[in-house]
Amino acid sequence: MSISTGEQAVVEGVKKQLLVGGEWRDASGGRTIPVEDPSTGETLCEVADAQPEDALAALDAAVEAQADWSKHPPRERGEILRRAYEKIVERTDELALLMTLEMGKPLAESKGEIAYAAEFFRWFSEEAVRIEGRYAVAPNGAGRLLTMKQPVGPCLMITPWNFPMAMGTRKIGPAVAAGCTMVMKPARQTPLSMLALAGILEEAGLPEGVLNLVTSSSSGSTMSPLISDRRLRKLTFTGSTEVGRKLMEQASGNVLRLSMELGGNAPFLIFEDADLDDAVVGAMVAKMRNIGEACTAANRFHVAGPVAEQFAEKLAEKMSALKIGRGTEEGTQVGPLIDDEQRSKVDELVHDALGKGAKALVGAEKVEGSGYFYRPTVLGDVPEEADLRQEEIFGPVAPVYSFGSEEEAIAAANDTEYGLVAYVYTRDLKCALRVVEGLETGMVGLNQGIVSNASAPFGGVKHSGFGREGGHEGIEEYLETKYVAVNL
Ligand code: NAP
Repeated sequence: MSISTGEQAVVEGVKKQLLVGGEWRDASGGRTIPVEDPSTGETLCEVADAQPEDALAALDAAVEAQADWSKHPPRERGEILRRAYEKIVERTDELALLMTLEMGKPLAESKGEIAYAAEFFRWFSEEAVRIEGRYAVAPNGAGRLLTMKQPVGPCLMITPWNFPMAMGTRKIGPAVAAGCTMVMKPARQTPLSMLALAGILEEAGLPEGVLNLVTSSSSGSTMSPLISDRRLRKLTFTGSTEVGRKLMEQASGNVLRLSMELGGNAPFLIFEDADLDDAVVGAMVAKMRNIGEACTAANRFHVAGPVAEQFAEKLAEKMSALKIGRGTEEGTQVGPLIDDEQRSKVDELVHDALGKGAKALVGAEKVEGSGYFYRPTVLGDVPEEADLRQEEIFGPVAPVYSFGSEEEAIAAANDTEYGLVAYVYTRDLKCALRVVEGLETGMVGLNQGIVSNASAPFGGVKHSGFGREGGHEGIEEYLETKYVAVNL
């Protein structure tokens, strides 16, 4: 199916060049990259393909704008964010359509992401005027200790394709609020949402050079000169643990401030006393939000032995009723995966588990035809040695395991290199608190299948990374502390 005239108009409405120092310009040599609609495999448009010299020009612009921007009154920085928040909300329908076209998720989910993305701007518009310091009498009574907060300086931001706008606003929001300038590089597959966002920030009055945007097909060679540039002060990355590790190595040479939001392998624990129907509702959200392509996606369901089979059957019933289709079609609940490679990886993980003895209750196959669709899948009797026990699935696949005791459940949940989020379903408050305290994750959903909230600190531990986005903690990532020893 080809894209409609209305869809084409939304794509055409976005500027597709690089934004450098307030000027929209082509990449060196006029190079471009195609952007594909994953539900058809067709090319939607072409965007600029930045080369290393373009990225360096973007950093030059960020460095040049930094001194003035850091002196900009906090109230005005906040008001820019507030205006941008309002514009995003006003344009929800068109931004959601754009996101669905480049990323595939159903329109209703894209609207959900637009609301979530905008919320970071509203939250940080309020945080901009609450950057505080301390004044204290030194313990010996003689001197005074003054502590102040200042912007970190020019930041490099690298974001993934799965949440094309929200992963950007939760970095741009606090950076603007704190007074940092930035170079943003969105994922190659989903640049359009970020390009549209840059246009909105311009309209909201963000001064030239504060946000510079580069789209590129060769992220490694384009970004590395920036990471080693002494003028850069911070790298904030959301993406896979594998790429995060490489970037940390590169950044160590330049001793950069880092925030790393990396992969996940979220356990979803259901105890025997839990309301099973409620747990199924939470499981559907935790598994199927974003077609399973979320770092917070429930990657494995650990269910108390006596209710495991019943849970798996109920979940399979819900999963088999989901409507698969192009995200723009009315009623679609499951869109395509991002590309064929991602879909093949999901299929390989499913077949590895089946080959090792798991049973498919529903799904376990690709959908024939154009686009990268995969059937929602529930796997029972999954052996511990199946690869998807340890690997991030990033697709609509729910493996169900059973546990005996509370200790066994906690041990199974923690048996992973990752530590982003866990979900716990129980009606027993004491059990809930014991389990929550025992979990090695940065976040826990207690009797709910979603944790994302702009006013809460989002982030992981272990190989899921470090640093927090959102909440009061979010702005701290963009501030340095300066201590002044005052001689009275
Ligand atoms: P990815 O392959 O790690 O890519 C993420 C970003 O890094 C993209 O912009 C990519 O550019 C860029 N990149 C890749 N290699 C690079 C290099 N050598 N130097 C500089 N930049 C480089 O991840 P993804 O497949 O887009 O996203 C999925 C992953 O993100 C999952 O593991 C998921 O769990 C994680 N994630 C984590 C969070 C969180 O908050 N913890 C949130 C969302 C997603 P290209 O597009 O050009 O490759």
